[in-house]
Amino acid sequence: MSKNAETIAAIATAPGAAGIGVLRVSGADATAIATTLLGRTPQPRHAHYCAFRDAAGDLIDRGLLLHFPLPNSFTGEDVVELQTHGAPVVLDLLLRRVCELGARPARAGEFSERAFLNGKLDLAQAEAIADLIASQSETAARAALRSLDGAFSARVRKLLRNLIDLRVYIEAAIDFPEDEIDFLAEPELRNRLDAVSDELSTLLSETRRGVRLADGLHVVIAGRPNAGKSSLLNALAAQDRAIVTPVAGTTRDLLRENIQLDGVLLTLVDTAGLRDSTDVVEREGMRRARQELERADVALLVTDAEHLSEDLKLLGPAQSGGTRLLICNKIDLSGTEPQRREEASGIRIDLSARTGAGLDLLRSELKSLAHGGDAATGAFSARTRHVLALERVAAHLAAAEFALVAQQAGELAAEELRHAQRDLGELTGEFSSDDLLGAIFSNFCIGK
Ligand code: GDP
Ligand code: ZN
Repeated sequence: MSKNAETIAAIATAPGAAGIGVLRVSGADATAIATTLLGRTPQPRHAHYCAFRDAAGDLIDRGLLLHFPLPNSFTGEDVVELQTHGAPVVLDLLLRRVCELGARPARAGEFSERAFLNGKLDLAQAEAIADLIASQSETAARAALRSLDGAFSARVRKLLRNLIDLRVYIEAAIDFPEDEIDFLAEPELRNRLDAVSDELSTLLSETRRGVRLADGLHVVIAGRPNAGKSSLLNALAAQDRAIVTPVAGTTRDLLRENIQLDGVLLTLVDTAGLRDSTDVVEREGMRRARQELERADVALLVTDAEHLSEDLKLLGPAQSGGTRLLICNKIDLSGTEPQRREEASGIRIDLSARTGAGLDLLRSELKSLAHGGDAATGAFSARTRHVLALERVAAHLAAAEFALVAQQAGELAAEELRHAQRDLGELTGEFSSDDLLGAIFSNFCIGK
């Protein structure tokens, strides 16, 4: 397919003036286009200094021309890269020239899509390119690079192989019905099923961590009005974005702030006070606050020494899917020391948003949560799409286990494993619909 593909072209560097700009061309006519521009056949993987001219022979710019013949190119097709001064006008003229010579402007993500279709990258790796480009922290960039290198895909493929082995093993037994029941009772089968389940749950938790590394940690700050939520957000963000006021119940809406803690991205959300209220606007704010809490990676429940026992009762039932940290604020008032302790109800940190005492304890707690307990060395990036697919795999695996153990139904179990296999294949793109591919690649930028 690669030989006959339409030739596409796009400016690969970011829009705007820059020292250098790169135009990329891929497809069947790329080599002919390069030959015309250079006036002779380019040597593969050599930097040719070239005078780029328009159809009338007028100079567009001088720059470098590089030719990557198929299949050893990013897309797996003939690729040409043209480097000029990074002037948007120059790059536009050159793009126009290349299109006169037979190329057409590329759609968003089309280069990566071709790389995927030509087997240069799997889907998770292609997504990692987009995530690398969009990364907002050093940790996110390193994690995306590991996924691009195939760290995540390798884990998925290993699990897929084990899953297929297991299915084949069960299907072989189904073909001999007289032995089936005996076979299904064998401990060997149970062991293999358990091994695959364990492997999956490890991968699922690492994938969740990969999403946190890529998207950042979602931290929701909740508590009674005047507990000091906005002050805490401001202290962490070290800038006055939230409006701090001594009047109770004024932070009715949600307020978001992205901050970086030693290379880790955190999205902080300040919520309206969680308390009973008859005010309609405030009730809406509280509804949204509870919603935020449900999807939080970390909930910071802010209180102070004076209201601690009372607030624990109020905050106790507030739902959170993630980790809860109890923040005992305003220690400057009680004159106590900052500290971190583990209590029956969870981790508690005593600090002062006003003086900043104890903030370092909170920062290091958040950092270790972002890293999933230990340092994020070796961690790969992932997307929510991957987590959802793995959760479906887990559900099919659980159903397969139930079919085997409770029902001795080998046929049903094999069917569940087939579903699991298909859902797992969606991660790397082995089994994926055109709709899914379209949705993924259209979110890329043009020129990628
Ligand atoms: P929120 O309603 O929970 O967002 O609370 P605010 O951040 O708006 O703070 C309410 C009041 O408590 C303000 O007057 C703050 O200055 C004060 N406050 C917040 N944190 C501290 C603290 O650590 N120490 C003292 N003394 N006052 C604080
Ligand atoms: Zn507030």
